[in-house]
Amino acid sequence: MKKEFAVIGLGRFGGSICHSLSEQGMDVMAIDIDEDRVNEFASIATQAVVADTTDEQVLKSLGIRNFDHVIVAIGDNIQSSILTTLILKELGVTHITVKAQNDYHEKVLRKIGADHVVHPERDMGKRIAHYIVSNNVLDYLELSEEYSIVEIKVNELLAGHSLVELDVRAQFGLNIVAIKRGEEIIVSPKADDPLQLGDILIIIGADTDINRFEKKVL
Ligand code: ADP
Repeated sequence: MKKEFAVIGLGRFGGSICHSLSEQGMDVMAIDIDEDRVNEFASIATQAVVADTTDEQVLKSLGIRNFDHVIVAIGDNIQSSILTTLILKELGVTHITVKAQNDYHEKVLRKIGADHVVHPERDMGKRIAHYIVSNNVLDYLELSEEYSIVEIKVNELLAGHSLVELDVRAQFGLNIVAIKRGEEIIVSPKADDPLQLGDILIIIGADTDINRFEKKVL
């Protein structure tokens, strides 16, 4: 069955989620208190509605409980974001993702039961800082406070060496889970195959170990 989504708050973040979900063929209800914003989404979302989501009756009348996933992307108005999340939770929405503005906001959202709290500016800042520091870090995905997955391009220093020679597991406590070579993805890389210049290593491990590895080889 097709999943149904509701996006509350059609600023840059919520708007972009709405666009992407619609492009993926999902049913999306776009909601905002601001009529002009809602009008912009009339032809993109399945339904676009002007509503103040801090009003429980309004949310009830939209049948919000029946959506599989509700995304709260209310930006600066932290009070409205918290109140909306609380009402969604009380109404029994099964999956709620909320955008947090700062760490305090995130703490409160977790406490009231948001299933997923995202911090797009902070996370994107971290990702970008990793590419800026090293031209060989192509992507960086935080798994938790301590662990991440990074994509690292094989440079002259690494090329020609095998995974056995590099011994990253023993030396750095990192695991190379896959290698991208052109169009090919090698999911269980052989330990004695030499790496080629331009290969992309997908590495999982603790941030401190990843940083040590980046400093040593990049
Ligand atoms: P971004 O940083 O993602 O651009 P904004 O703060 O610009 O976020 O956008 C948040 C959106 O949330 C705005 O379009 C605003 O009108 C909407 N919004 C704020 N409060 C409510 C509310 N109580 N109900 C519905 N939408 C709201």
